[in-house]
Amino acid sequence: MKPFEFYIPTKIVFGRGKINELSSFIDKRISRVLVVTDKDSGEKSGALKAIKNQMNGRFFDVFDRVEENPSLQLIEEGRSVTRAGGYQLIIAVGGGSPMDAAKGFAVLATNDGLMKEYMGGRVLENKPLPVICIPTTSGTGSEVTPYAVFSDHEVGFKGGFAHPDIFPVVSIIDPELTFSMPSQLIVNTGLDALTHAIESYLSTDANVLTDALALHSIKTIIDNLSSAAKKDEEAMCLVSYASMIAGVVIAHAGTILLHIMGYPLTIYHNIHHGKANAILLPQFLEFMLANSTVRNKVVEIDNLFKPFGGARKYIEDFGISTRLSSYGIKESELRLFAEKTIVKGDVKITPASLNVDVIAKIYSDTL
Ligand code: NAP
Ligand code: FE
Repeated sequence: MKPFEFYIPTKIVFGRGKINELSSFIDKRISRVLVVTDKDSGEKSGALKAIKNQMNGRFFDVFDRVEENPSLQLIEEGRSVTRAGGYQLIIAVGGGSPMDAAKGFAVLATNDGLMKEYMGGRVLENKPLPVICIPTTSGTGSEVTPYAVFSDHEVGFKGGFAHPDIFPVVSIIDPELTFSMPSQLIVNTGLDALTHAIESYLSTDANVLTDALALHSIKTIIDNLSSAAKKDEEAMCLVSYASMIAGVVIAHAGTILLHIMGYPLTIYHNIHHGKANAILLPQFLEFMLANSTVRNKVVEIDNLFKPFGGARKYIEDFGISTRLSSYGIKESELRLFAEKTIVKGDVKITPASLNVDVIAKIYSDTL
């Protein structure tokens, strides 16, 4: 058996209504709190009201300007916001975008360098502020990962920052907070989680424990996402749970080629992160079946999609075309997409031989 390490320092609190226990997880010595969220997921989900009710006299502010796929420019703003307010704790409310932004704010609250420098390998001088995550989508798993993903729309960049010190200290995963999501968002975020579990399962960093969790997550999502999209509450709870498990898995085995191929679709065509991965998934699986060193694992995944007519039909039954041309993407862009992809670290943990031509061909086969 291959040796492994497993590390999740985040206290995971899962269950319907658990948001109402938030105050019991906040250290009594904390007196100043910053809530980081987006335009209205905090209101729509009901999370913000529950948080305000439990501040128990603590001073708190709400920063509600996190955009989708948060930019490095926004993260830099976090430095002055967090320092001016003297906050001791950040509570993130929303999907992956506010959770990642909160992690970036936490880093810059205590460290002087630019986020881009830390993404480039500069060592963090100080421990970031603690972050409590309260997800309102069921997809990114950011509530249990040491990752944050940032974009620079001006230069066409999307990339991740990884550091064990940005694991949230506590995450309250209350599936009821996801009930306000529109169906399309349930599908897009659920498919993000599904691709996390699939990619981790195929990653060269996978181990026996991540494999067990990944398969459990893949099966749970495949079997429940369609009912969740129809707002079946129990199915939504199961997808919320499985997306957290997929987060635990990517915290150890990472995402691989599929996720980094999805980034240019988001950067250049504004396609939701989870949907971008879903569009490319069938072609990615076909490529991995023919070219990877983990064909047996790809066959296992294909078998899980069989009752639904295969991976392509599974995705298309959600009304998502698996053809890039349906989104106005042109052949002439694909080389640039492949060049943006090949430089990313996830290439190294993809168990297949990759270069720009190979990646451009996968895009081209998806056209
Ligand atoms: P998101 O970008 O956080 O949110 C998308 C939209 O969902 C927002 O416009 C928000 O609306 C709405 N929304 C959120 N919760 C809602 C609710 N309960 N009811 C109604 N609307 C709600 O989406 P996401 O897919 O969760 O996150 C994507 C980001 O996470 C990407 O940047 C991706 O790269 C990143 N990511 C991070 C990790 C990681 O490990 N850190 C892993 C995978 C992906 P309003 O704006 O109107 O409030
Ligand atoms: Fe993702």
